[in-house]
Amino acid sequence: MSSYPKNSTGSSPNWSVVKTIPDNICTTNFAEVGSGTCGFNSICTLKPDKRPECKCPPGYSLSDANEEYGNCQADFMQGCEADAQNSSLDLYKLVELQNTDWPTSDYERINPCSVNDCKAYCLQDCLCIVAVYNENGCWKKSLPLPYGRQDTQVTSISFLKVTKDEFAHKTPPTMPDKKGNQNSLIILISVLLGSSVFVNFLLVGILCMGSFFLYQKKISRNQRNKTIIQSSLRYFNYEEMEEATNGFKEELGRGSFGIVYKGVIDTDSQYQTEVAVKKLDRVVQDTDKEFRTEVSVIAQTHHRNLVKLLGYCDESQHRMLVYEYLSNGTLASFLFGDIKPSWNQRTQIAVGIARGLRYLHEECSPQIIHCDIKPQNILLDDYYEARISDFGLSKLLGTDQSFTNTNIRGTKGYVAPEWFKTVPVSVKVDVYSFGVLLLEIICCRRNVAMDVGEVERAILTDWACDCFLEGAVDALVNTDAEALSDKMKLERFVMVALWCIQEDISLRPTMKKVLLMLEGIIQVPAPPLTSYSCQI
Ligand code: ATP
Repeated sequence: MSSYPKNSTGSSPNWSVVKTIPDNICTTNFAEVGSGTCGFNSICTLKPDKRPECKCPPGYSLSDANEEYGNCQADFMQGCEADAQNSSLDLYKLVELQNTDWPTSDYERINPCSVNDCKAYCLQDCLCIVAVYNENGCWKKSLPLPYGRQDTQVTSISFLKVTKDEFAHKTPPTMPDKKGNQNSLIILISVLLGSSVFVNFLLVGILCMGSFFLYQKKISRNQRNKTIIQSSLRYFNYEEMEEATNGFKEELGRGSFGIVYKGVIDTDSQYQTEVAVKKLDRVVQDTDKEFRTEVSVIAQTHHRNLVKLLGYCDESQHRMLVYEYLSNGTLASFLFGDIKPSWNQRTQIAVGIARGLRYLHEECSPQIIHCDIKPQNILLDDYYEARISDFGLSKLLGTDQSFTNTNIRGTKGYVAPEWFKTVPVSVKVDVYSFGVLLLEIICCRRNVAMDVGEVERAILTDWACDCFLEGAVDALVNTDAEALSDKMKLERFVMVALWCIQEDISLRPTMKKVLLMLEGIIQVPAPPLTSYSCQI
């Protein structure tokens, strides 16, 4: 029922809605067969005029673009068959939809359940399309999803599973300004051409040179963008970056290439994602080179234990990398902070890092050497899963090469001895750094620590060798009851670390073997500890 004011004089009538039946069309017909007011997998919201608006959730679009109240379908493959090749954790992430519910189609309820467990259960279950969390627990739902609605009165939060590659297929913007400039230049020249023969010749010359210059510039720009388009990354201009970071306001940390800021980007007209924007502050040649290396290297990687690069900005002197935001900070602050993380958490993190490195070394083509494995370069996600970051120092290897000559890269305390010799550098430098890091994870202390009392304990790698030789690995974990009660794993992890830090490169295992040993799938032989291998 709508009303129209008696005294209204305007040409277009000013109708306003007084009452509708039903009061909220998005909530009706739950008991009936069908999808409700909007199509399956769609979300219904009530507009101020009480009419329904149907929107597809992020990662979904209308099955029939002309049918606005129709069904939505995922823009990506999903379901158990699609997940069969990979773990769902590799493929999907969850998009949080506040005040949103699909009230039916649940196949499992878990109660009691924390929000984080609810998210994890859905991610691990190939049947789960969305997890709805409210005061009554966690509801796992499967396709198709009818009666979706979003309303401030809905107290549920929905966590929708979407592919991690949702940023794919977005291309860098065209450059209208450049084209506009070219057009105005042509008009200006046309006017001047009529004025004198000499000036005409002069202008024709300038025009030819100008066109040649613009053509060359466009070609080189296209060439550069082409490499990046191939990697399906999202392009941001400087203004978008400024807006996303609220004027580069919240600093997350500083590294050797620049400052990292927290930001938020739109992934859809309605939804947003938190990001970490690494702003490269030095535009000297090195940084520029690092930027391009980092972009092309990371863009080709996809693994649950690597930080995902979502986009980049490359506008005049502004160069930035946009990463997914990882809420739990660096492994350094987690390990060396006031609260000691549990043994179980630590061992899982170590295995995660080993998996990420094995992927870089053995599953990437061309092979990738990280070159700077250290706790500051490991970030932790919402579930405290390890993600290797900072590929700025990575060096790509040709597939037919296993060694490369390069300048020293990496961080003191973690670099393999061969960096200081005239020996070619291989993936084994990462194995060495991983060994040092593994000891730090086991012992919850830094490799070099002068405040540990006895001087023989100051260098962790040396002390670990001593302890192992003396059959006293317990001393490495001090009073950590959980680690002490898991003696076999403790010994296994220490031995793997000691294999990794062998000075003789050929004795160091591959990351594949490291992982098999850590997981207990193959036996770990006693590492050869001599003054040659361990400086003891
Ligand atoms: P270096 O560049 O010398 O290796 P670094 O690895 O600490 O040092 P950056 O990678 O630039 O330097 O990161 C600086 C800090 O920014 C990190 O220590 C971390 O606290 C924060 N940070 C970086 N990336 C992210 C991210 N994706 N999510 C959350 N915080 C991040």
